[in-house]
Amino acid sequence: MTYVAAVANQKGGVGKTTTAVNLAAALAAAGTRVLVVDCDAQANASSVLGAKAPPDGAGQVGLFEVLGKRATLEQAVRSTSLDLVDAVPASIDLAAADLELANTEGREHLIAQALAPVQERYGCVLLDCGPSLGLLTLNALTAADGVLVPVQCEYLAMEGLAALLDTIERVRAAFNPRLALIGVVATMYDGRTRLSRDVADQLRRHPLKMFATVIPRSVRISEAPSHQLSVLGHAPDSRGSEAYQELAREFAARTGIGAAA
Ligand code: ADP
Ligand code: MG
Repeated sequence: MTYVAAVANQKGGVGKTTTAVNLAAALAAAGTRVLVVDCDAQANASSVLGAKAPPDGAGQVGLFEVLGKRATLEQAVRSTSLDLVDAVPASIDLAAADLELANTEGREHLIAQALAPVQERYGCVLLDCGPSLGLLTLNALTAADGVLVPVQCEYLAMEGLAALLDTIERVRAAFNPRLALIGVVATMYDGRTRLSRDVADQLRRHPLKMFATVIPRSVRISEAPSHQLSVLGHAPDSRGSEAYQELAREFAARTGIGAAA
């Protein structure tokens, strides 16, 4: 059994990639094989995981070539700097994918189709989305069993959540009836600031499935990528590392990952 989760929020800089990478590391540390598919032209997840694809034509293939059916997803999978974690890298070419695929039949199903023959090798597939609700994010939501939504504890945190929930509803109706909301996770929480506390309170009052785990703002979390490590590898005993392991336990309980193992 494989669970496919999209990590999505059309706001940039809210902790999607950080959450995808560290959740992958924490699930892997608990024995689950994870595939991270980088669905963002910025390719941040690919960089952090040491799996960045060179631009089109440079030999190695990534998600862009898979979407254009010039390569299979299997050909694009590579191992990463994390044990038990593989990745399908992104490249800057993906920025043109919306336009390039605009007239392709079934264009919302390209990731789902490409993933199907490969996903059973993994306990979990994480689709790290970019900061838009464009075709790549629609593809991720169409391929996913559920959505994990990171929300930064800052002013206007809820802004845009309505648009995201609306998009989830539309994808459910048009392309993927099984799409569930796994939950919303508060990121970059700073208990010393009134603002962080207020936003976390607001989120808890919102009729959304909040995770009990809150991800703290932590230098250990933000500096780990420069070592191509997760926070678990970089600072195993830090609060950030503990938080992501706690999130992984909650995530596994909600998605059933590892339940039968
Ligand atoms: P997104 O993928 O949503 O654009 P990122 O995961 O790239 O967001 O995070 C944006 C920035 O915030 C990055 O520089 C990252 O290192 C930093 N960041 C993310 N989560 C935390 C955290 N818990 N503590 C400190 N910095 C963080
Ligand atoms: Mg990102």
